[in-house]
Amino acid sequence: MTFQDLNLNTPLYNAIDDLGFESPTPIQAEAFNVVASGKDVVGIAQTGTGKTFAYMLPILRNLKYSKQDNPRVLVLVPTRELVVQVVNEIEKLSKYINNRVLGVYGGTNINTQKQAVAQGQDIIVATPGRLYDLAVSRVLQLKSIQKLVIDEVDVMLDLGFRHQLMNIFDILPPRRQNIMFSATMTKDVDELITDFFINPTKISIAVSGTPLENIKQERYNVPNFYTKVNLLEYLLKDKEEFSRVLIFVAYKRMADRLFDMLEDLFPSQTCVIHSNKTQNYRLRSIEQFREGEHRILVATDVMARGLDIDDVSHVINFDTPDYPENYMHRIGRTGRAEKEGHAILFSTENEQESRIRLEELMQMTIETLELPDSVEISKELIEEERPQINERYNPLKRRDEDAPGPAFHDKKDKNKKENLGGSYRREIAKKYKKPKTRGDKNYNRRNKNK
Ligand code: AMP
Repeated sequence: MTFQDLNLNTPLYNAIDDLGFESPTPIQAEAFNVVASGKDVVGIAQTGTGKTFAYMLPILRNLKYSKQDNPRVLVLVPTRELVVQVVNEIEKLSKYINNRVLGVYGGTNINTQKQAVAQGQDIIVATPGRLYDLAVSRVLQLKSIQKLVIDEVDVMLDLGFRHQLMNIFDILPPRRQNIMFSATMTKDVDELITDFFINPTKISIAVSGTPLENIKQERYNVPNFYTKVNLLEYLLKDKEEFSRVLIFVAYKRMADRLFDMLEDLFPSQTCVIHSNKTQNYRLRSIEQFREGEHRILVATDVMARGLDIDDVSHVINFDTPDYPENYMHRIGRTGRAEKEGHAILFSTENEQESRIRLEELMQMTIETLELPDSVEISKELIEEERPQINERYNPLKRRDEDAPGPAFHDKKDKNKKENLGGSYRREIAKKYKKPKTRGDKNYNRRNKNK
């Protein structure tokens, strides 16, 4: 496919010529018509695939010149670095277009940004917190927003921005196009799509289901968390074989919990990265792992995306990913540069379905190994493994993993009463029938007299 196959206009063609791009990337080719159609879109694409242009090309193609002050396009991204980068990309594409683009983010003087907003803008690129502050201050009016782009949604949710996103949704006009891009599919992302998107079209560059031949895959059936830790301890004792081990877990709380246990078992050999750790902490952990100072790194899927580390001897999937694509990304961290790699998968009974799905994607079965005799089977369960009482659907409930869990006891009788609201109104309603027409004040009086 060439850019000529996309329905661009001369200013955009000229800008692309100047950039020296030869052809659209796969995500750009796939996204153009869908985004241009005005439908809600969910794109699964990593940084480096050209995803910024994938949504910006169709948006700029259809954005008409306007003198109005209120912005019409809002792009939300998780970090200030990304704000700068996206603004930069938009400016490159807008070289021959007369539009106004502004990037806003926290940690800088809000008054300067207020002045810039007040001058009138077409496109705002922002981090959620600062965007909300500007909107609440009334300097930034969001009533004209037609297109909302949320980029790197997985990172945004992982950083705990869900509430801020919902606050922003509340003040945006309901009639708008929602476009979001995410590198990983996670439960949080899935929930956000279900709750706020209208029948979105999904586009993604298909993950290859063919694992590299030089990655040896094996798996264990393990009943629960503590037995997984025992098995991990058993494996990691072999320091020579397990020389550089990347352990994947789905949640940051799990990452911390596992890290604490490994720190006890293998002091000064373990590090951890997830999004609640500071940038400095994460960089230090990665450095320690890369330099071989520590041989074990515990990481969440979202945070491991940017990792570029060679010579990983083993990838251990401490849990079985719900989304088979995540498994493919995880194991791709070992067996790089033609070296022999090793991937090990732990699955509980509850995780077998996910395991079958990923085997289907790869069209192969992973060799199952018996739990070694010396690995103790634990009977103890962690909180998440105990039976849970599910709450009714409640869109206002915190969904982040740090939200308090459901109670484990039955309600007392006095707490079981259902609150039906305004008892006075209920009493009155019981006494009188509803008038047939709104104006018929005498309805009940007439009926009473009958
Ligand atoms: P992104 O995935 O949006 O972070 O983009 C990654 C890099 O690819 C950016 O530096 C873009 O300028 C560049 N890029 C985007 N589209 C193309 C293309 N069609 N051909 C070559 N480079 C591109």
